[in-house]
Amino acid sequence: MADAPDLLGPVDRQALDEAVTFTSELIRIDTTNRGGGDCRERPAAEYVAQRLADAGIEPTLLERTPGRTNVVARIPGTDPSADALLVHGHLDVVPAEPADWSVHPFSGEVSDGVVWGRGAVDMKNMDAMVLSVVRSWAREGFRPARDIVIAYTADEEDSAVDGSGFLVDQHPELFEGCTEGISESGAFTFHAGDGLSLYPIAAGERGTGWLKLTAEGRAGHGSKVNRENAVSALAAAVARIGAHEWPIRLTPTVRAAITEIAALHGITADLDDPHVDVAQLLGKLGPAASLVENTVRNSSNPTMLDAGYKVNVIPGHATAFVDGRMVPGGDEEFHATLDRLTGPSVSWEFHHREQALTAPVDSPTYAKLRAAVERFDPDAHTVPYCMSGGTDAKQFSRLGITGYGFTPLKLPVGFDYQRLFHGVDERVPVDALHFGVRVLDHYLRTA
Ligand SMILES: [Zn+2]
Repeated sequence: MADAPDLLGPVDRQALDEAVTFTSELIRIDTTNRGGGDCRERPAAEYVAQRLADAGIEPTLLERTPGRTNVVARIPGTDPSADALLVHGHLDVVPAEPADWSVHPFSGEVSDGVVWGRGAVDMKNMDAMVLSVVRSWAREGFRPARDIVIAYTADEEDSAVDGSGFLVDQHPELFEGCTEGISESGAFTFHAGDGLSLYPIAAGERGTGWLKLTAEGRAGHGSKVNRENAVSALAAAVARIGAHEWPIRLTPTVRAAITEIAALHGITADLDDPHVDVAQLLGKLGPAASLVENTVRNSSNPTMLDAGYKVNVIPGHATAFVDGRMVPGGDEEFHATLDRLTGPSVSWEFHHREQALTAPVDSPTYAKLRAAVERFDPDAHTVPYCMSGGTDAKQFSRLGITGYGFTPLKLPVGFDYQRLFHGVDERVPVDALHFGVRVLDHYLRTA
């Protein structure tokens, strides 16, 4: 589809073309993160650093571990009293198995108006769009009002210890003055049926609580009476946790999401009514229910079990792991509930823990994000949403930076964006990248 002339913003043709080329070329640089330190982002970091430097933007390359390179650069704004804005994107990707794909996942192939490969939506597309926007500013001689700090990070797809965690701990000065940040997983077209185009903007993330459960009992012969069987105690606790129905806890972001999506369906949702049936309400929201159903409550899914070594021997202990997620403000309830569900004979601890995040949806920043999307897609209905998982925004929040998920993409009907995240045949339409460049350019100019 040709670009409609009335939708052409100030970005030039070169910026649109570069967003596509950079996405493709970044995909060709294999930055697979297999976890446990098995990843090398350096070639991708050098690629983006060179393109920033070409535009007169001075990049700093930082590593905690050789090869695990992060890139940070600051574009000075014209208003020294204004707060700075962080724009961050990770350079690593999750593994891809070539045999499962229609094209090679690291080919970066561009065909029939689509860029293919691992990272096409998560998130070399955003890395490329940001690069193309700031380079077009350099050609034009434009400077934003706020300082804009650009961070390309390593290790987002694993622990962030070599990436945003390291930057926040060891180089907080690079982010001085940053009050807000934008990054992945928001502002994409979500076709909600009946021609309704939603653009969910992420304004929060649930917290992560990966739990280790341990039952200690009395080891013994499998044929003897044993009231202290660790396997029985652990299994009972795991069953209780798996069956637990967490109560609905609506945070401001999710409340706003439900209210706005319901209104677009012509439904008035009075969430202050104590008798409101939220589950029933979600059932009326059609496909859009999937944007909120995972974030209306805490969750706890048992995922791993380990006990015993022989059928006629009762082991002395047994362990299990549970993937727990907490809504913002849901920690205390999570803790108390787990104490109760595990009971006296099973102990539990956090194996890994990340705070939940929440960003205001009545802020000037949110209003500007919304306006930028609606400017370039007049049929767009932006809605806030809370991510069910987590991103680098969790680390940057430790510096007081409020994070929004904002990687604008205009996607055609039937394009299942969310399934492509970490999925097979990850790809992104060229038109979607062009839209993203225009929206980002507009937002970052007016931020
Ligand atoms: Zn990502």
